Parts: sequence; structure tokens; C-alpha cells
Amino acid sequence: MKKIAIYIHIPFCDHKCIYCDFYSVIKTDSMLEFISSLKKEISSHNSLMNKMEITSIFFGGGTPSLLSPKLIGEILNLFQKKYMLSSNCEITLETNPGTVDLQKLKDFKKMGINRLSIGVQSFNNDELKFLTRIHDKKLAIKTVEDGGEAGFENINLDLIFALPKQTTEIWESNLAIAAELPITHISAYSLILERGTILNKLVLDGKVKMKDSDFDASLYEFTIHYLSEKNFIQYEVSNFSKEGYESIHNLSYWEHKNYLGFGPSAHSFVDGKRWWNFSGVKQYVDKVQKRGDAICGDEHLSNEELQTEYIMLALRSKGLDLLNLNKKYGSEWLLKNEDFINELINNNYLFKRDNFIKFTDKGYSLCDEILLKLN
Ligand code: SF4
Repeated sequence: MKKIAIYIHIPFCDHKCIYCDFYSVIKTDSMLEFISSLKKEISSHNSLMNKMEITSIFFGGGTPSLLSPKLIGEILNLFQKKYMLSSNCEITLETNPGTVDLQKLKDFKKMGINRLSIGVQSFNNDELKFLTRIHDKKLAIKTVEDGGEAGFENINLDLIFALPKQTTEIWESNLAIAAELPITHISAYSLILERGTILNKLVLDGKVKMKDSDFDASLYEFTIHYLSEKNFIQYEVSNFSKEGYESIHNLSYWEHKNYLGFGPSAHSFVDGKRWWNFSGVKQYVDKVQKRGDAICGDEHLSNEELQTEYIMLALRSKGLDLLNLNKKYGSEWLLKNEDFINELINNNYLFKRDNFIKFTDKGYSLCDEILLKLN
């Protein structure tokens, strides 16, 4: 039986953070109408999901923890009752401090959520204020501790580095607090300036100055070393986990496996075909009500495009298995890039073990530039 990962996009937020370009809208009364469309969209994929084993379900957003445990339970029920879930199916809920308390977390656990991903971003109050988050350091710590007390053994924290006034000491303190908490996974991203955000306008108006790329790279290298000393294994450019706690859902993307996305702007990828939904909530609801799905576009990837994605995703995460590559796509790519790969190995950007190549710490920090040079 083929395996599939499920992503469910809940597009509601309490407010819009200044740096965020994810598709989200302020929580409205249209939430129930949205949930009913979501259920309808899920049911419309019956014939596909009947043939698949579900390995993970990820509620992302937006802020899915704004929904009640009852609503999350109703959506999960659709999958649990009708389809085959693997025995270790990972079920993640993105959660923001300020939208949950201990009881709500316990109720999410009861509904079947077995992994929390908490959008902490920083433990520094000035940084949290700058990011316009609704929580402070105390609430962030309490939310993580409540997660542990509610029975979650598998907890991820999202953290952002290279904030405009951040020093290495502030970032180290953020990592140190995180490492002391009952967590198994950290996603650490540098602050990216996205078009159309309030932050972008502040930078254009000269009111905020972003950190330069050298500082960004130095904090990134610091993060890799610091977290490895705390027994977090880097298994993707921005993701670190305790042994055995790599995210099954994230690995599905990075290992180029099948996934189905539901909700506005969600993307799906099944057997080399990709499609995506309309991103506006109203448009999404209208389309699903009329025809059962909200697909706005699709593409069939050529063999060459599939190979490129496979290689890039593997190199950004756990490394590239050259035997598998050969089996799937032949030897042409390796022959074309052999000299450059050997140069990267000789200069300690890549290492090779048996038939497997993977970035070193030094290579990870220049990963985007290196990947551009591979062809
Ligand atoms: S809570 Fe998350 S998804 Fe919502 S606006 Fe803030 S950063 Fe974006």
C-alpha cells in the first residue's frame, strides 16, 4: 500500500505578525463555514486516500490551536474512521502561546494529537514585542511546560534568529532556555524579509535595519554547534531533533514522498503530479461548496524536474543516496557533477560515506549557494 502525508491548512490568526507572509486572515465568524468546507474537501479525495496508508497528519497555519479541541477532533475523526493510519502516525498541531492553556492541551491530546509544534520564536521580551507576537517569555515557557504536563512527549519549538537588534548572547540565551525545556525538536530559521509585510515597509522606510548576511551566517554556524552539544541532531538545514524524533511529516516532503494538502493555498504532490488550492478563504469555501475541491492549478513534473527536486531536497536534509539516485534516475547527473562534488568533498563542504553524500556543518551554512552550482 502506498504511503501519504496529510497537511491541513487552518488559515486563521489572532492578528497579523509584522514579518509574516503566510496565508492567514484574522479569526472571523466564517470559521464554522470554513470547517464544513474542509470536511467536504477531505471527503472528495476518498478514492485516492482509500488506497493509501496515512503516515502523518499536520495541522498548520495560521494558528490551528485557535480551533477548539472538539473541531480538531471532528476533522481527525474523518481520517481515523475512514482511512488507514499507520500505527505510529504522527499527528502534529501548530500551537501558539496565548491560544492554549493546560486544559486545552490535554483536550487536544485526548482528540489524538501526539506532537505539538509551538511558535515561540524567541524568549526575549523585546524581540517578541518587535515581532508583534501576543506572548511574552513567561507565557512561552509556561506553554511548553504545559505541553509536557498534558502528556506530549514530542514537542517542537520554532525559533527565529538574526533579528535586527539581536546579539550572539541574546540568541545563545534563547537556545539555552529552549534546550532546558521538555522538547525533542527545534526549527531555527533566520528572519527573512518578505515582500508585502509590514516589516518590509519598515525596512524600506529606514525605520528598521536588518542584520547582514555575515552575521546571519555566524549565528547559523553557532546554532549548529550549540545544538549538537545539547544532543540535537541536524537532519535538515533548519531542523534539529533528539535521536528518533525527526519529524515524520517533514521527512515526507524532503524525501519527495506523496502528500495531500487540504485548505486554502495547500499544495499536494502525488506520483509526480503537483496541484494547489485557491488561497482566499472565501474563494476556497465557494469552490469546495460548488464542486468538492478548490484546485486552482496543477503541473506534471518531467523526469528531469523530478530528479532536480529529489536531489535538492535530499541534499538539504539527510543527504543523497547515490545508489537510490542511480536506480531512480540513472547516472547522468552524477557524471555531470562528479568533479564539482569531489571538489566539495576535498574542501570539507560535503562528506561521502559508502554511496551517500551529505553536507558538513560548513557546507550547510553555504547550502543555497552550493545547490545553485549543481546542475
Ligand atoms: S501567528 Fe504565525 S501564521 Fe499567524 S500571522 Fe503570526 S507568524 Fe503568521
